[in-house]
Amino acid sequence: MLRIVIDRKHCKGCGLCVAFCPKGALCMATSISPRGVNPAEVREEAACVGCLNCTVVCPDAAIEICELEAAD
Ligand code: SF4
Ligand code: SF4
Repeated sequence: MLRIVIDRKHCKGCGLCVAFCPKGALCMATSISPRGVNPAEVREEAACVGCLNCTVVCPDAAIEICELEAAD
């Protein structure tokens, strides 16, 4: 199971991660972050396939994909 972690404080709201996600797992928030922008947010975590496009294109390293251990 994959967890998408977006650092709202560092995201500058450029939208690159949303544009380059092939699965539509991300979107832009309607709320304003501490940085004064509309940051990226998770739209559908289950859709994420772990391709890491979002982490590669993010200019501020504000997004991370973590693999969670499955609960037994
Ligand atoms: S790892 Fe790939 S599928 Fe998952 S949110 Fe990032 S770009 Fe989308
Ligand atoms: S690419 Fe990075 S800075 Fe740009 S919207 Fe996505 S998380 Fe925010």
